[in-house]
Amino acid sequence: MSAPPLINWGAATPDRRGPVVAGLDAGSARNANGTHAAAFGSYQALAVATGGLSEAHRPNLEGTQPRIEIGPFAQWADPRKIVTMDPWGHLVAQVFATERERGLDIRPSIAVAEGRLRLAEIICAIERGRLRPDGQVLLRNGEIRVCKIAIEPVWWLPGLAERLQLTEPDLRQALFRCTDGMYPALLDNPERKVFLPPIGGTSVYLFGDVQRLNDPRTRIACRIHDECSGSDVFGSDLCTCRPYLAYAVEEAVAMAQAGGLGVVAYNRKEGRCLGEVVKLLVYNARMNAGDRAESYFDRTAQVAGLSDMRFQELSVDVLHWLGLERIDRWISMSNLKAQALRNAGIQIIRQIAIPDELIPTNAEVEMSAKRSAGYFSEVVLA
Ligand SMILES: [Zn+2]
Repeated sequence: MSAPPLINWGAATPDRRGPVVAGLDAGSARNANGTHAAAFGSYQALAVATGGLSEAHRPNLEGTQPRIEIGPFAQWADPRKIVTMDPWGHLVAQVFATERERGLDIRPSIAVAEGRLRLAEIICAIERGRLRPDGQVLLRNGEIRVCKIAIEPVWWLPGLAERLQLTEPDLRQALFRCTDGMYPALLDNPERKVFLPPIGGTSVYLFGDVQRLNDPRTRIACRIHDECSGSDVFGSDLCTCRPYLAYAVEEAVAMAQAGGLGVVAYNRKEGRCLGEVVKLLVYNARMNAGDRAESYFDRTAQVAGLSDMRFQELSVDVLHWLGLERIDRWISMSNLKAQALRNAGIQIIRQIAIPDELIPTNAEVEMSAKRSAGYFSEVVLA
């Protein structure tokens, strides 16, 4: 085992940046707090405890390299632009091959693959004539070709503290306390500046020729979607989450067909990061009190302590990672998300609201509440 390698966050090349070492077998070479797939860290513990998983297991990364090239972009070399993911996370098998051969347990925190999507709403959009299969992006059977990317959170604590206007010790103290002391090294090892937090990550779906990311003239349609499992997966009708997500996919396909690129980022931020139990408690409270738009956000805050913990200022990192400086069609009505992009220097040309006919009847209370809270509600901005 060797001494932990230094991390110079935001250095322009992987050599100078250095690897994040956080594998289960990292030993004394570890330079980050937390573990890979940390949201599942407790399952890893069960697998180790019951003998199914060896802590000494090293992933065999042969053949796992990205199917599609992404980056590097200039934003990767700015330590302030990306603080919640490792921009080199999909390339570690290549760029840190020597270090891995030397015995460091370096693992990817990003994976890039190809696949196809099939959504009922897209089939419907074809039937109604809003989309037409082209054999490239959208196939005749309704399937969509995509590049899909999985991203684990990797937090650069000094940069995260600065983004949130905190001191790094205050951030470390809060992380330590609010995980019930789960990561004592946050306090004991202040020289470890990287933390892989036990939270869900981000999935990104790219529609169209990904190499177009390298041309700043490429027109981009984009949605950053925060998870709502009840609606996204099961079709619950109280909110507009799945209809908006499906509409974003439709816009992304149309942009790809027009020579641009579609980007849909999906963040594991269930119930505005308050969690699904709180979300359903609030549903009950709303129903029992007579569901009214005026009390929508207040009722959430009464149960959870506040109405939103998503910290949209962190959601822009993935756009920086993709090298984006401008979004031509921004598929969102959230004022918080749009402001986060503006603060990050990413220009929004046109903001696109969900068409009225796609809003479920029972979601009207949510829509009214959002509009009265200052959410964007008009179709045309630019
Ligand atoms: Zn929802």
